[in-house]
Amino acid sequence: MEENVAELVDVVCYACRIVLPLLDSPLGREAWWRFLDEHAYHPVELLWEHSEAHERIDIDYIEVGSDIRSDPSFAEYAREWTGRPLALLPRPIARAVAEIVQRADVALDAHEWRAAPVDSAVAERVLRSMDFAPPPGEAVDDAAVLARLSAVETALERLRRAAAEPVGEHFRTLLTDVLRALPSMADLPPDELCAESGPLASPRLWDTERALRLIQHFMWSVTRGAHPDQSLSGRSGRAS
Ligand SMILES: [Zn+2]
Repeated sequence: MEENVAELVDVVCYACRIVLPLLDSPLGREAWWRFLDEHAYHPVELLWEHSEAHERIDIDYIEVGSDIRSDPSFAEYAREWTGRPLALLPRPIARAVAEIVQRADVALDAHEWRAAPVDSAVAERVLRSMDFAPPPGEAVDDAAVLARLSAVETALERLRRAAAEPVGEHFRTLLTDVLRALPSMADLPPDELCAESGPLASPRLWDTERALRLIQHFMWSVTRGAHPDQSLSGRSGRAS
């Protein structure tokens, strides 16, 4: 019984955007102690299976032991997680974008989203330039930073072009708002990003990639032209 109950409980830190499922196993307990040590004085909440607070857990949250490549395993989280110094830094750009995407999500859920016929085709074109799931622990050299920056540049350009298409009112608002929240290429000078990187990626590059990941995730619902059954803002509806 104890095990069953434990499986249904997650603990979340809203400051660090990390979710830990509580597992009744030696490694699960080790991870829980690590979480307590790391987040005891942060805004932490226990989430039961049907907690409404699950709605706040978007794709930018790190979930220990999930099937997403960039998330840490229980063993990594409890012990040596290479990505920890980068993963737990604040991500102001991603959080600004998360708020915008959340508003759009609410409009979709309430069936208030006014779509134009071109919306899904435009979203599909944007998605072709988007594949943002960088693991925080990935060691980078200058070449890797420049390659990742170039992928960001392509995605930003696609988003700008999409905003110039005859898309629906809500899609246009979303695109305009996220473009305002995202950095421009002038805000991401290659030499500074390279200097800030090593062995882990530059925090602002990673923050921008996480923001683009939220947009990428939302674009899937625009290509469907309707909201899927599972909430896209929640990690239950995620795809890696
Ligand atoms: Zn925390």
